[in-house]
Amino acid sequence: MNLFKKSGVLYIVPTPIGNLSDITYRAVDTLKSVNLIAAENIYHTNILLQHYNVKNILISFNKENEKKQSHYVIKKLQEGKKIALVSNAGTPVINDPGYFLIKQCYIFNIQIIPLPGPCSAITALSASGISTNRFCYEGFLPSKKKTRRDLLYSLREEKRTIIFYESKHRILQSIKDIIEKIDQNRYLVIAREITKKWESIYGAKANIILSWLKKDINRYNKGEMIIIIDGFKELKKKDISEEIKNTFIMLRNFLSLKQSVLITSKIHKIQKNNLYEYAIKKEDQ
Ligand code: SAM
Repeated sequence: MNLFKKSGVLYIVPTPIGNLSDITYRAVDTLKSVNLIAAENIYHTNILLQHYNVKNILISFNKENEKKQSHYVIKKLQEGKKIALVSNAGTPVINDPGYFLIKQCYIFNIQIIPLPGPCSAITALSASGISTNRFCYEGFLPSKKKTRRDLLYSLREEKRTIIFYESKHRILQSIKDIIEKIDQNRYLVIAREITKKWESIYGAKANIILSWLKKDINRYNKGEMIIIIDGFKELKKKDISEEIKNTFIMLRNFLSLKQSVLITSKIHKIQKNNLYEYAIKKEDQ
């Protein structure tokens, strides 16, 4: 039984995130065949349509007018029209306008057909070299300093890989916050300008990433970027973290082995025995 018999169809159509060739045949066919295209930015989408020789009617559908335009789109869908939703780049609704409209489609029992296609978060993740088994997508980091730092702190023991969208204006500050609120030794990847001319994917510990970025302004002052953070790895009982090792090494410059082990274990609230094992091995080196 077709539950949506009387209504039209809303197609969610992903578009390229930089390289105009990254579009599926089906997406182009859909953009040609629908009655109307609801686009985040008409000018932007027109460039894509011209490239693929698609002639169709466009209406503006962005963050500011989403509610108002959704009523119009729903009305058209109820009349049996087929409508494509596109954003400026990537998959609509993923940090782009469309969520309200999708909810409305459910309320009015209108069929939604999502097309697979480009999504910058997934494209970056696939090349990050960080585990893809389990990941969480967090969208943009909050712009308010305290909210951003609180969020990062709340994620410090998140075991899944974490994906953030980021802007060139805040990247340095965000990496500093990751160092302070998560861990300076946490491995992360900055994926920048994916599919574009200056594409770069660089991974290292957070503190190394910060110095790498600071070394050359061209590494962050232009383009779009994504931060992918390795998930929290629980230390095995016998493992000594880098932070603990650093404390021990620092104290050992001034104190005896015994005193250094004792104070380090007090500071980090860990058992002395494991640390002794590490300390003795280190002395033997
Ligand atoms: N819906 C889009 C998608 O599926 O990729 C995401 C839209 S969101 C408003 C825009 C953000 O996505 C950018 O600020 C950047 O963090 C990320 N982004 C988009 N294109 C990118 C690219 N080519 N390279 C790296 N990051 C990109």
